[in-house]
Amino acid sequence: MNYDLKKIVELRKELQGKSIPDILLIAKREFGDDLAMTTSFGYTGIVLMSFVKDILPEVPIYFIDTRFHFEETLKLAEKIKKEWKLNIIYISTRYTEQQLEEAIGKEAYKTNPDLCCHYRKVEPLLRVLKTKNVWISSIRRDQSITRAEIDVIEVDGRGTIKINPMYNWTKDQTWLYIKKYDLPYNPLHDQYYPSIGCVPCTAPVDKGGDERDGRWRGMQKLECGIHLYDDEVKNSKEKEKCQPSEKK
Ligand code: SF4
Repeated sequence: MNYDLKKIVELRKELQGKSIPDILLIAKREFGDDLAMTTSFGYTGIVLMSFVKDILPEVPIYFIDTRFHFEETLKLAEKIKKEWKLNIIYISTRYTEQQLEEAIGKEAYKTNPDLCCHYRKVEPLLRVLKTKNVWISSIRRDQSITRAEIDVIEVDGRGTIKINPMYNWTKDQTWLYIKKYDLPYNPLHDQYYPSIGCVPCTAPVDKGGDERDGRWRGMQKLECGIHLYDDEVKNSKEKEKCQPSEKK
C-alpha cells in the first residue's frame, strides 16, 4: 500500500492512550474498507472482538485454519461466529497435505517449524493482505519479548499498516475484562495454556511462566512469522527451495 509515513506518525500520536472504541472508530474513519482483523480466538482476541462486534461489525475477521487446531479452539470459533454474528472467514493453506509432505516433509512442525508455519499460516495471511492493507491485531506488549516494542499503529516490513488496539493492555487487565463481562473463552486457558496455537506446538505452562513459553517448547522459535517480517526475509531462500507443487 502507498502510505504517507508522516500521516502514520500523526495518527500514532492521535491514537496513543485512546480507548479501544476510539481507536476502532478512528481506524474506520481513516481506512474504511481497507481494514481486516485476524484472530486465533485467544483471550485477548476475544476482548478485541467484543468491541469490534459493536463498532466494526462488517470488518472481515480472518481465522487461519492450520488444520492442527485444538477441538476447543474450533468449537469456540463456531460459537463466536454464530452468537456474535461477526464476519469471520476461515482461511487455510492452498496446498494439500500430500503436497506439503512432499515439499517440507512429514511432521515438518518437528523438523522445520518455520517452513510449516510459513505454508500453514503466513502464506494464507499474505493472500489476505494483498486485498486488505490495514491489519487489526490483538497482540499485546506484555505477551513476550518479541512484542515488547509494538505500538498502537505501525508499518511492518511488508508495508502493511498494523493497528494494535490492545498494545498496552496487560494480561491481568484483559482477564479482568473477560470476567467482568462474562465473555466466552477457550477452556484450555484454565488448564495452563495461556497461549494456544496448533496442537503439536502448544504445551501447558508452569505457573509464573511467560505467556508464550508453551509455544514451540524446546525450540528457539517464539513467533510463527505473521508478526515478524524479519524472519520471513531471513528464511525466504529456504522457502523458495521448498515450494510445494500444485500440479496434483
Ligand atoms: S504452529 Fe506448529 S503445527 Fe502450526 S503451523 Fe506452526 S509449526 Fe506447523
